[in-house]
Amino acid sequence: MYRARENFEINNVCLIPAPFYLLFIYMTLENSIRSSKITQLVKFVERNSPLFILTGAGCSTASGIPDYRDKQGDWKKHKPVQYQDFVDNELTRQRYWARSMLGWPHISNAVPSEVHYALAKLEQAGQIEYLVTQNVDGLHQQAGSSKVLDLHGNLEKVRCLDCAYYISRDVLQKQLLSANPQFEPTEIKLGPDGDALIETLDFSTYNIINCPLCHGSLKPELVFFGESVPAHRVSLAMQHLQDAGALLVIGSSLMVFSGYRFCRAAKLADKEICVVNNGKTRADEELDLKIDEDCNAVFTQLVETLGL
Ligand SMILES: [Zn+2]
Repeated sequence: MYRARENFEINNVCLIPAPFYLLFIYMTLENSIRSSKITQLVKFVERNSPLFILTGAGCSTASGIPDYRDKQGDWKKHKPVQYQDFVDNELTRQRYWARSMLGWPHISNAVPSEVHYALAKLEQAGQIEYLVTQNVDGLHQQAGSSKVLDLHGNLEKVRCLDCAYYISRDVLQKQLLSANPQFEPTEIKLGPDGDALIETLDFSTYNIINCPLCHGSLKPELVFFGESVPAHRVSLAMQHLQDAGALLVIGSSLMVFSGYRFCRAAKLADKEICVVNNGKTRADEELDLKIDEDCNAVFTQLVETLGL
C-alpha cells in the first residue's frame, strides 16, 4: 500500500513538465528577492530620513511620457534638440515648435502615476527633505508634492531669449495652432520632452511665434541639452542634500552630469545612496542599495509597508 502511494506521488511529479517547475522556482525566487529588496528599502528610509530625492524620466513613463534611454543607459531613437542649434537655426526652431505643438496636448493631459503619489505621501509623513526632479512635466506637484525643485525647468512657461517677456505654454499653444492650421493634430508618438516624433512634415512651412515686444526667439523655460543648469538651482539643491540623511534616486540612469553630481556630493559627504531604476546607471559601482525594478511597483509596496 505504502509503496503504491509512493509510486503514485513519484509518477505525479514526473507528469508535470520540467519547464513549469523551473518557472515556479524562478517566480518564487524572484518574489523573495523583491520582498527582501523592499525590506532593505524600508530600512534605508527609516535609517536616513529626511531624504534627498532625485527623480528622472523613469518616474513618468507610466504617465505616458517616454524616457530618453534604454536599460543599458544608451539613447533610444529620440535625440533631444541642442541649445546652440535651437538658438542659431530657424529651421531647428520651426521643427521644435511644430513637434512641440503636436505633442503638447499629451503632456498637458498627463496624470501622475503611483510613484508620484507615493512620494507625495512620503513628504506628508516628513520623510523627505527635498525632491529634485530632472523631469519637466510638473507631475510631482500635480500629485501633491510641494518641496520640489524642477532642476531642468518646466514646460509650462516660455520665455524670450532677448528680453524679460514670459508667456504660459497653454496661451502660446492657442497662438501656435491658429498660426498653423496646415499642421493638423494627428496620431503621434510622443518623445520625452513633449516632442512629437514626426519627421515627415515640411517644417519650413511652420510659422513660429516670436516675442511680441522685441521679436526675439521664444524658448520653453527648460535647460536644453548643451545648456547649463542655473548655478542658484544647483546650490539650493546642494544645501538640501547637506541637510538630508541620504540620497534616493528614482527612475534615472544618471548618465547626465546634472543628476550624477548629487551622487558625487553624497559620497563626499559620506551619505548613503540608493537607486531604484529599471536598468543600468552611471553610479552602479558606488551604491549602497540598488533596486533594478519598475519604480511604480516598488514605491506602491514601500508606502504600503510603511502604512502611509
Ligand atoms: Zn523679447
